[in-house]
Amino acid sequence: MSIRVTFHGAAGAVTGSCFRLETSRARILVDCGLFQGSKTEKELNYRDFPFEPARIDALVLTHAHIDHSGLVPKLVKAGFSGRVHATEETADLASIMLPDSGAIQESEVARLNRRNAQRGRPAVTPIYGADDAARALAHFTAQDYGALVEIAPGIRLRFWNAGHLLGSASAEILIEDGGERLRRLGLADPRRALEQERLAQSEREIGGGREALGGDVLGVAQGPGQRLRTVHALDRATHRHQRARLGFAPPCARSARSTFSGVTGSSSMRTPTAS
Ligand SMILES: [Zn+2]
Repeated sequence: MSIRVTFHGAAGAVTGSCFRLETSRARILVDCGLFQGSKTEKELNYRDFPFEPARIDALVLTHAHIDHSGLVPKLVKAGFSGRVHATEETADLASIMLPDSGAIQESEVARLNRRNAQRGRPAVTPIYGADDAARALAHFTAQDYGALVEIAPGIRLRFWNAGHLLGSASAEILIEDGGERLRRLGLADPRRALEQERLAQSEREIGGGREALGGDVLGVAQGPGQRLRTVHALDRATHRHQRARLGFAPPCARSARSTFSGVTGSSSMRTPTAS
């Protein structure tokens, strides 16, 4: 079985989280985030996607922060017609944040174009607008934590609570190709004991299946600083068929905690209260 994982963002940078997973039967994306930061990084938002959006079967969205979700409207605008799988809370947050992101981009580009007009420079088109964001929301499909669902041929998804932003999830992805082999790709934060325990349990569960199916278990995490090491470890794991479990906290965890400090209770709450 051939599995290809390509990092399109948040590798060598902190924002623009997006990676593409391909098998012989399907192609999916995990996250589709906006590049934020320097002018050079922001310009990456205007380039064409380095893949054909129309050929992507599904998108897995781990949480609603813009550096993970902010290019979903652009993806739909560029031809993606599949489903965006997210928790219900993430879908709710995205219904607020993505149209807002579109409106911000429209107003920023309008301001830029007024300057461009004065200087005789060509007008710039926004990456997407609020209407594009509204259209993208129609692609969202809410998934429960813990539910195992097929999202593309031979690819199943299960969300675990990541304890980050409201609705955030670690994505466990099971891949089957021709019924011969099974591999499991996890996105996790190892500093969270509960999640660690769940992953360990998950790994034990698949332990028997691993022998039977001859597959592998892979664990990858997203976050700043050590991405290169993560990529190298993933590369080693996929080539040597050995286990790898890596991870670190997303960079936006602190800001999320302050944003939702007014929220109490469980992740079943739908609407955050900004503090
Ligand atoms: Zn985040």
